[in-house]
Amino acid sequence: MPALSTRTETFTDSVIRRMTRVSDEYGAINLSQGFPDFDPPKAITDRLAEVAKTGPHQYALTWGAKNFRDALARKQEHFSGMKVDPEKEIVVTCGSTEAMMAAMMSVCNPGDKVVVFSPFYENYGADAILSGAEPIYVPLKPPTFTFDVDELEAAMKQPGTRALILCNPSNPCGKVFTREEMQIIADLAIRYDLFVITDEVYEHILYKPHTHVYMSTLPGMKERTIICNSLSKTYSITGWRLGYVIACPEVIERVKKVHDFLTVGAAAPLMEAAVVGLNFDDTYYQWLQEKYTHMRNLFLDGLKSAGLSFVEPQGAYYVLVDISEFGYTDDEQFCIDLAKEVGVGAVPGSSFFREDVNHLIRLHFAKQDETLLAALDRLSDIRRLKK
Ligand code: GLN
Repeated sequence: MPALSTRTETFTDSVIRRMTRVSDEYGAINLSQGFPDFDPPKAITDRLAEVAKTGPHQYALTWGAKNFRDALARKQEHFSGMKVDPEKEIVVTCGSTEAMMAAMMSVCNPGDKVVVFSPFYENYGADAILSGAEPIYVPLKPPTFTFDVDELEAAMKQPGTRALILCNPSNPCGKVFTREEMQIIADLAIRYDLFVITDEVYEHILYKPHTHVYMSTLPGMKERTIICNSLSKTYSITGWRLGYVIACPEVIERVKKVHDFLTVGAAAPLMEAAVVGLNFDDTYYQWLQEKYTHMRNLFLDGLKSAGLSFVEPQGAYYVLVDISEFGYTDDEQFCIDLAKEVGVGAVPGSSFFREDVNHLIRLHFAKQDETLLAALDRLSDIRRLKK
């Protein structure tokens, strides 16, 4: 058989999705791969039922249906205050996964470096490799997940560094970057002439008093911020694969071409139905925040009652739980045993860290009360895993 590509040689499968398979194998309650087990807003699914009859069913414009981009531009302006030209500054993609890939391919040359905070969402490493770039990591130090400014500057000033990826609110650690931290990153990006590629998919999942600061609105950052985002988490439609890139026209011109050849376009009927969600007023986002605050409190209170220690997330819907007391050196084995013996699926923390971190697991809580209560009931028996 002929040789396969060297570029993909070092790839492993996604650990997050592997843990979903492990969870399913043992019939565990799957708190590994982060997705809701509740329905999307009814107004969106009702509209989808209508669209099934009326269409559109053929290709939309490659960079996204006009009404979808118009609605998105309005929503972005409403929340961030930035004006977005729906013709020149948006590309609709197949999930933020494609958005990130298209952004990276549009800015990186082979051999370039991309700064990534660790812990990180696992796709970024693969995105960097596929776009020919080398990821360099800057630690966010547990338990507060703060970064050292000198370490960050050392990475950003390295010759060949092209961009920094910023996941805010952060998957997996739940950190919400403060305005001061964002300003430090922005100042360095300007000083060393880098792009900041943001992953803002948890923009609306925040716990008080934390608020979302939009990197692109900081002075001097509009031209160098490439926003990657999606509707998955905001409207509970992870399977619809609707994402987008927002950036200045020069960047978007390039992203449009990459996207055109990667996927042609996002699903036309789903864009049409999701416009309803993009047009929701503020009450929807307040409701979403209250819903997630409820789920977070329910789950974290349960973890506390089980005697588990963790860092309280400020945003997103994941919590990193400390498993030091169980005596495992291999956190993936811990997660397999957790699924098999306790009946709860989790992701080993080591898959998110560049550093040698093996004492954390990630659980997510985007689940209905009954699912969370059932998982907590099982977790009350977690000490049977103690070695
Ligand atoms: N973002 C979600 C997570 O981190 C889902 C990942 C995925 O499978 N695309 O779990």
